Amino acid sequence: MIYETNSPRETYALAKQLGETAEPGAVFTLTGDLGVGKTVFAQGLAAGLGIEEPINSPTFTIVQVYDEGRLPFYHFDVYRIGDVEEMDEIGYEDYFYGDGVCLIEWAELIGEILPQKRTQILIEKDLEQGFDYRRITLQEKEG
Ligand code: ADP
Ligand code: MG
Repeated sequence: MIYETNSPRETYALAKQLGETAEPGAVFTLTGDLGVGKTVFAQGLAAGLGIEEPINSPTFTIVQVYDEGRLPFYHFDVYRIGDVEEMDEIGYEDYFYGDGVCLIEWAELIGEILPQKRTQILIEKDLEQGFDYRRITLQEKEG
C-alpha cells in the first residue's frame, strides 16, 4: 500500500490511524533517510495508541517503553547496535513476541532476528513532488 503526504500533519495522521487499529503483537519496521519523518511517524503511531507523552528517538537506549496507552508501545532504534547479541541482552523476544506494539527504526541492521510477520514502512522524499512530499510504503511480510 502506498500513501502520499504533503505535510508533517498528514504523516502524523496516517500513523495515528495505524496506531488506533494496531493489534497486540504488531511489529512495524521504519526505514528512511535522516529528516524524512520517522520521528513524526513514531509520534503519530504513539498518539493512535493513546500515548500522550512526547516520543523522542531512543538515542541512548535501544528501546524505549511507553506503558500508558491502549497497548504497550516499544520504540526501538537499533542504529548504534554493534552486534545482534545486544538484542539478546535486552531480551528482545519479550518485546517482539509480546502483547505490545513494536516500532523498530534501522531494522535492516537486525534483519536476521526480525519476526517473519511484520509490517515494513518505508518513507521517501521525492523533491520533484515538492519539499514536503513523502511517499510512505506499507508492506506486510509473512516470511
Ligand atoms: P527523522 O526522524 O526521519 O530523522 P524527523 O521526523 O525528525 O525525521 O523530521 C522530519 C522533518 O521533515 C520535520 O522537520 C518535518 O516537519 C518535515 N516534514 C516536511 N514534510 C513532511 C511530511 N510530509 N511528513 C513528515 N515530515 C515532514
Ligand atoms: Mg528521528
